[in-house]
Amino acid sequence: MIVQSLIKKRMEKLQSRLFRYFVSESPYTYEQFVVNLTDEIKKFSGASFCAIYLLDEWKGWFQIHSKDRYMRESLRSHFSLHDLYTQTPNQSDLQHIINVKEVGSSLRVTSLHSGGNVFGYLVLKGVAAIHMQEDLLHAIGSEVTKCIKKIEGFYTSMEEEKKYELLYKVTSHFHSSIDTDGVLKEIIETLRKTYRDFQYYLLLSNDYTKDNDLPVRELTYDIDFESSASTQAYLTGEVQMEDHLVEKRSILYAPLKGKQGIYGVLKVVTPGYLHFPKKDIEFFIFIANTAGKALENAQLYQQSRKLNSDLQLINSTSQKLNSNMRLTEKIRYMAYKIQQSFDAGEVGFVTYEEPAIPNVLEGSTEYFASSDSRPLIHYVKESISHQEGPLFIGDLDAKPIEHVLPYRSLMAVPMKDHEHISGLAIVLQKDPYFFTFESFKLLQSLVAHSTLAFANSILREKLEKAVITDYLTKLHSRVHLDQCVEKHVKNDEQGSLILFDIDNFKNINDTYGHQVGDEVICQVADIIKAVIGNHGLSARWGGEELAVYLPMLPSEKAHDLTEMIREKIAMSTSPAVTVSCGIAPWKAEWVRPTRKQIVQQADQALYKAKSSGRNRIVTAHPIKERS
Ligand code: GH3
Ligand code: MG
Ligand code: MG
Repeated sequence: MIVQSLIKKRMEKLQSRLFRYFVSESPYTYEQFVVNLTDEIKKFSGASFCAIYLLDEWKGWFQIHSKDRYMRESLRSHFSLHDLYTQTPNQSDLQHIINVKEVGSSLRVTSLHSGGNVFGYLVLKGVAAIHMQEDLLHAIGSEVTKCIKKIEGFYTSMEEEKKYELLYKVTSHFHSSIDTDGVLKEIIETLRKTYRDFQYYLLLSNDYTKDNDLPVRELTYDIDFESSASTQAYLTGEVQMEDHLVEKRSILYAPLKGKQGIYGVLKVVTPGYLHFPKKDIEFFIFIANTAGKALENAQLYQQSRKLNSDLQLINSTSQKLNSNMRLTEKIRYMAYKIQQSFDAGEVGFVTYEEPAIPNVLEGSTEYFASSDSRPLIHYVKESISHQEGPLFIGDLDAKPIEHVLPYRSLMAVPMKDHEHISGLAIVLQKDPYFFTFESFKLLQSLVAHSTLAFANSILREKLEKAVITDYLTKLHSRVHLDQCVEKHVKNDEQGSLILFDIDNFKNINDTYGHQVGDEVICQVADIIKAVIGNHGLSARWGGEELAVYLPMLPSEKAHDLTEMIREKIAMSTSPAVTVSCGIAPWKAEWVRPTRKQIVQQADQALYKAKSSGRNRIVTAHPIKERS
């Protein structure tokens, strides 16, 4: 009883000494506090040396703390707590006197425990310590335990507070911005401030960031690496840990998890082997999830923006293409839009009226206008009909195409519209792997939306041509010639209309039949077309009568050309025929005539040519009066 009260008294003294440390103004680190604690115990107990071993959760062993550096080092090298630990089954009751020759005397050791777990040892040296009453040692041990636990709680909460302050900064930044790089930077900075000696990497599955200051690495997840810890973290969404045997480091992989998926992995590398404590793992998980959500937000935002701009592009092009544009203008517009949207080098549109003959539509870019593109077009056509779908090629160099191509990336989409047209849209770029799969999908939508507009233009232009073209000779129709003459007479200063009539054509029909008769008309038409070239417009006037209008040429020149035609027909038709020709020249300086007047004049001249013997040219008198 007396002993008990004596111990109690002594302990009160110890408590008051230790209390000074709590109220001390100069802030101690956790380690400094423990070292001071050993010094106090030493003085209090009369021991010649005092040390406290505390479990370091990161390292997984007991770390010694003491003021006496020399003793500390000798104990480190000659005394293993590990032996003590494994020899004693009930750690809580551990009380030992151990002989450690190397440190020159026996040591008194007692375990420090809390909640049944040993978290450290108190080690004392010297005669006073060896002979110390067991109760007193117990009391000292429990006092030290109380002290350490209190101070540990204090430091932990301070650390936590610091950590969460940093985290708060990260998350507030994250909520106020869709700037992924900013969030990732903040995260890495927070980690570097919290655990200074560690290295951090962001293994990302996609190109989320262009910031070179960020420690971003590409996440590889080949089948070969499936068992690697980073891949496991990415695939399972669970934290993974491994020790790097060569570099002697421990590594933690925390998946960057969002609500909808996993966007990468946070890799934490420690200097030397370390064991990650539970609360620190939780911190890494939390921060990795924050990064995951930031990346997810950025991705969703980009996706919605992309979708929006894609829709706008499709909408605006459809609107434009459905307006009243010529086919060439439509093709040129589409080629430009595609170049602009995909950063494409060349854009070509090819149709197939006959399956084997490609027809590059006017308005396609330069490369497609040249014959150099033919082998490529052929290859694309074959590939598309073979696989019955669009084509996406990252590198054309790897493909079996005969010619060396100046382009390596290719996207090609077939154009189909209820069998009205069949064709291809081909998009090229010089660099390999240039186009994204998103671009490819967008191109398909664009082509699908524009094909009908192209088909409409093709159809309309065909119809227009049919109206102004004579089906047999492929010369212009009389209606078209009439319209042209009308325009020219109004606007020009001079011109000539020439009418041709095949002589004695009935005989040809009678002798060779109508079919040969038709062929002869075509021969005559071809000669006229060839001689006239760009000088004027040739048309079928009706039956075996043909006509030419020569704008701007003086009548002598018109006569020369007519003479050439007349001669050539007489020389080279088979069965041979001749033509009679009537020329009606006009000049605004004489009088501006009507179209009807010119036709009448030409008709009369032709009549004269017939009646004066055929196979000849008669030029009408100048028209000097307007009728
Ligand atoms: P002329 O020298 O007076 O012109 O004598 P011609 O026999 O040519 O007489 P005309 O011009 O009066 O008759 C033209 C004939 O050409 C009448 C018609 O049978 C024939 N013909 C008109 N159009 C065609 C056609 O598209 N094909 C064929 N094979 N014959 C036609
Ligand atoms: Mg006739
Ligand atoms: Mg005739």
